[in-house]
Amino acid sequence: MDGNHQSDHKHSKTEKKFLRKQIKARHTLLRHEGIETVSYATQILVVANGGLGNGVSRNQLLPVLKKCGLVDALLMPPNKPYSFVRYKTTEESKKAYISLNGKGIVGDVGQKIILYLNFVEKVQWKESGHQALPPGLMVVEEIISPEDEKMLLESINWTEGNGKQNIQKSLKHRRVKHFGYEFHYETNNVDKNKPLPGGLPEICDSILEKWLKEGYIKHKPDQLTINQYEPGHGIPAHIDTHSAFEDEIISLSLGAEIVMDFKHSDGVTVPVMLPRRSLLVMTGESRYLWTHGITPRKFDTVQASESHKSGIIISDVGDLTLSKRGIRTSFTFRKVRQTPCNCNYPLVCDSQRKEAPPSVPESDREATQLEQEYVHRVYEEIAGHFSSTRHTPWPRIVEFLKALPSGSVVADIGCGNGKYLGINKELHMIGCDRSQNLVAICRERQYQAFVCDALAVPIRSESCDACISIAVIHHFATAERRVVAVRELVRLLRPGGKALIYVWAMEQEYNKQKSKYLRGNRNSQGRKEEISSDASVQESPVEQTPDVGNQGSACSVPSISDFQEGGCNSSKFTNSKLPIHTNRTSFHSDLLVPWHLKGNPAKTNLTCQTLSNVSILQTYYDQGNWCVILQKL
Ligand SMILES: [Zn+2]
Repeated sequence: MDGNHQSDHKHSKTEKKFLRKQIKARHTLLRHEGIETVSYATQILVVANGGLGNGVSRNQLLPVLKKCGLVDALLMPPNKPYSFVRYKTTEESKKAYISLNGKGIVGDVGQKIILYLNFVEKVQWKESGHQALPPGLMVVEEIISPEDEKMLLESINWTEGNGKQNIQKSLKHRRVKHFGYEFHYETNNVDKNKPLPGGLPEICDSILEKWLKEGYIKHKPDQLTINQYEPGHGIPAHIDTHSAFEDEIISLSLGAEIVMDFKHSDGVTVPVMLPRRSLLVMTGESRYLWTHGITPRKFDTVQASESHKSGIIISDVGDLTLSKRGIRTSFTFRKVRQTPCNCNYPLVCDSQRKEAPPSVPESDREATQLEQEYVHRVYEEIAGHFSSTRHTPWPRIVEFLKALPSGSVVADIGCGNGKYLGINKELHMIGCDRSQNLVAICRERQYQAFVCDALAVPIRSESCDACISIAVIHHFATAERRVVAVRELVRLLRPGGKALIYVWAMEQEYNKQKSKYLRGNRNSQGRKEEISSDASVQESPVEQTPDVGNQGSACSVPSISDFQEGGCNSSKFTNSKLPIHTNRTSFHSDLLVPWHLKGNPAKTNLTCQTLSNVSILQTYYDQGNWCVILQKL
């Protein structure tokens, strides 16, 4: 009796939990993906958690779905944590709805995944629109025989380290060897006056001659980089330095296939499958303008059918699955360039650009342009994704908001997706942001928010009891503008009112405490998969090619010490290059973070101290940010 009773009780508890989760899944789909579910039965179900982005492959999901009836189509969009299934009849989809909802399946890496199904009227899936390979790109399948592949792989002596002929390095995400010329990751260039003795390995010679004769390549390369990628390894998105190498760059994939992502500066991404024993040839636009990189992950999204071997991955969403990565070794051959590059892409050409990455703006107009290009446009583009990865409010900000007296009027300047607007229901909170898309998300969530610039907030002076500015002010390009932003915040405060300001700190670790932002990177497999598939690779800025205006890759920072916050005095920054923030988690774009507060939270005060009408109540380091609470006198 007792036992029964208890299990009944448990059951209803589980059921309640399940219902809550299902409703949550429905909301998430609507809010972040714009997918509308319906409460009546249709032939089509959206399967939340049953997606490639969640580590669920077609081979795992399809048999489960088939148990409930005849599956007409299973659409698995790349990198998404959901999929769509269409059954032949509504009866069958109803059966699936009832029997699979809340059921667990085991994902590709053994993780348990609970499915949540909801009916939809139609399949909503935004085609990327770009169905062609980048211009100038070619993938030649089966360019060498399995015997040659074996021979090439066996010829590499990884245990020897630096040999007479080669320079070997262990990079963060892969092993490399260089022949012909050493590639310097600090400069993304080779020392043209210092060729390595011995040239390219002899074994490559006949192969290269053959490719020349058969017309796959036009120039004989004189530099070889061998990379070895284990599953989970990758290479950051980059463009090979124009001035370093000639037009034609070729890469032979050995040992295993891999997906390489090509990105255009307009945001288009084309994932390209490089099968084992294939040759990738990059010329023209694909070599000069598009970045290429390999996302560090253990599975790739690939076409399921055998007919799609090389080429674009997302050409058929109804045919996607996951493929486990193996150890891939690539032979990348390049020809060192002896004269400056005169390509047709001056914006990304180091030979044709005198000043490399953006310099510190000298006028307000320049500053505005810079912010427009590197901050506002980026946020506008990433709004949806940005929002879907930023749910969790930071505790100390919550604490600040909860401590305010009930009835307080509070402005959140740069409110993003509004994650702080609903924290304390006793407050009257209003948010603003430069990004229309983020403000739209706030409004969907029934928050008061409007679009405006943080330098000119259309709110009456002294009308707020408190203000918060979370991770906003560091986006302004000059010290003057940051001061104006703080001053504007203070203007809104009534005397005695408090402001909480967070600015992103360059060092994401302080007193040995990693920010949650960084720790958040170490996620469960499924989630990490989803995130890293979008992100350009983190953590190794030295390998980046600075490419202005080109999203998806990061710039190295030549002189970081120049960016210490210096109050209003920015004159000494002239001619300095600006660091561009590489994404730490899920952005696929770079954000401009032009200041650096070195090691000492007191420096956060400098900007604030230029204002006479405030007192600083508290400064601290939290979540990778320097923080200050100030009070208007
Ligand atoms: Zn060029």
